[in-house]
Amino acid sequence: MEHHIVIAMDGTSASGKSTNAKLIARSLGYVYVDTGAMYRTLAWYCLKKKVDVDDHKAVASLCRRWKTELKCIEGELRHVRLLVDDYYPEKEVRTAETSAAVAAVAAVPKVRDWMKKAQRQCIQFGNLVMEGRDIGTNIFPETDFKFYLDANLAERTARRQAEGVDENLAARDERDSQRAAAPLMIPLGAVMVNNSGQTAEQTSGYILGIVRQRLKEREDARLVAQQKPRW
Ligand code: C5P
Repeated sequence: MEHHIVIAMDGTSASGKSTNAKLIARSLGYVYVDTGAMYRTLAWYCLKKKVDVDDHKAVASLCRRWKTELKCIEGELRHVRLLVDDYYPEKEVRTAETSAAVAAVAAVPKVRDWMKKAQRQCIQFGNLVMEGRDIGTNIFPETDFKFYLDANLAERTARRQAEGVDENLAARDERDSQRAAAPLMIPLGAVMVNNSGQTAEQTSGYILGIVRQRLKEREDARLVAQQKPRW
């Protein structure tokens, strides 16, 4: 962590986290991590293995036993994938069925412990832009780069509908905010970004401006510290 930067992007469902996190990761050459996809992968795997997602013990037990691997995919957008049984369920994790199951799986404390360990391990791949619900509060609370995204519900619902997904986002947000283990909330020290009516370029440009300014301040402070006499 000392040597790597983590940009934590938390927020409500369809608040533009993925789009902006990808633009920022590309722009800085950082590795993009979609933690929602990791929870979705477990939800999909539960459905595949016929494990009741509301049975916390059964979900925790499956999570303890599943065979996974974290892989960094190189290319124009460097990103992390969580493989299960050597497979990446890219399409399966986006179905309405998986979306309806994911919040239940994400509320299981043992699952969150497992995810925290895996997500912190992503630092092995370099500087990160990590999006989720608890990155700034729980996964990397020590980072100086925390952002909380939101937009009005009508706009968020319209964004999902444009992607062909008709979902009750308010219900999922409510579940994510109400759970006992690492609920969705605004991290201490986070920059709030309400991007209603904004383009992704405007939002990511705003965030990038703040990140670059802080990186510059860090570098300046490091250079000053180097020049200080040692007596
Ligand atoms: O971001 P996405 O919509 O793919 O996230 C799916 C679900 O995964 C969320 O609604 C939430 O239940 C869970 N999640 C979480 N913590 C994260 C990321 C996602 O609980 N860091």
